[in-house]
Amino acid sequence: MNITVLTGGVGGARFLLGVKEFVGLPAFGGPDSPPAPEGSGTVTAVVNTADDIRLHGLQVCTDLDSCLYTLAGISDLERGWGRKGETWSVSEELAGYGAEAPWFSLGDRDIATHLIRTRMLDAGYPLGQVTAALAARWRPGATLLPMTEDRVETHVVVDDPEAQDGSLVALHFQEWWIRYGAALPAHSITPIGAEESRPAPGVLDAIAGADLVLFAPSNPVVSIGTVLAVPGIADAVRATSAPVVGVSPLIGGAPVRGHADSCLAAIKVDSTAEAVGRHYGGRSEGGLLDGWLIAESDSATIPGVKVGRAPLLMTDPSATAAMVAACLELTR
Ligand code: GDP
Ligand code: CA
Repeated sequence: MNITVLTGGVGGARFLLGVKEFVGLPAFGGPDSPPAPEGSGTVTAVVNTADDIRLHGLQVCTDLDSCLYTLAGISDLERGWGRKGETWSVSEELAGYGAEAPWFSLGDRDIATHLIRTRMLDAGYPLGQVTAALAARWRPGATLLPMTEDRVETHVVVDDPEAQDGSLVALHFQEWWIRYGAALPAHSITPIGAEESRPAPGVLDAIAGADLVLFAPSNPVVSIGTVLAVPGIADAVRATSAPVVGVSPLIGGAPVRGHADSCLAAIKVDSTAEAVGRHYGGRSEGGLLDGWLIAESDSATIPGVKVGRAPLLMTDPSATAAMVAACLELTR
């Protein structure tokens, strides 16, 4: 079975581990991983790039890197982001110069990734090819596609925290999320550039040609929402002959991790599994989903969508693979 997943970073990457296991691939790849077992399926991830940020002249693709590092088994699962066995010499030196963005740390190993990526981008390679080159070393065992190769950047409009006169300011998503912990109420969250962007090569084919399309339990606004904001992607989801099933990132009215509730408030969607399912909507009603998987303790009625219940905590790849099986069950 060939599964295409729309995804963000950390939450989506954990989900991809389970999708890989479900199609018969080892959850974790890595440079020394053996070739895919005979008869296994494939996994293609369409990854959000609207959180990407230039820091110290380096192009940092947070969600692509979370997927790459996690699937290759080289991420720090405890910290939740970045490489395991990381060191911080460059960040410490930058801080010594007063030059580090103190709210965004880059580890030394991670910096090597950004150096290679930026060098290739500057030499004219598009982001899809750069991502493939990074994957050629780490062998994540799934095809990672950026949603677009064009520049799209999520900006969050808030009351300017440094002004007392009620003026507004647009912050880069990462500054709002990390520096301010998403605690400044957002007037709006906009993926700047999305309207003019095009899907990266392979994205539309991956959605059209899949046996099953899944929405990872990623942030519905700044991960899945931005992927769907690239013109053509939502239409491809509506048009695919594959069933489309989403997994709720909310359990009991709250995100499992992070601040998805603050993002949902900005687009006036309640932080419940039902409200998010309704936000995506039923394919037969002009929306995007055929199925919506929610936690056993939750309930939801969504016109045109088959709702299923399963344990939704991604404690390990096997538990997550069981969630994927429950998604498939919904399509039968
Ligand atoms: P980011 O780009 O790194 O912020 O990660 P994503 O957008 O891909 O995923 C973030 C979302 O994953 C959050 O809204 C969490 O609620 C959700 N999440 C994290 N762990 C779990 C889990 O174990 N189960 C479910 N259902 N959702 C989870
Ligand atoms: Ca992200």
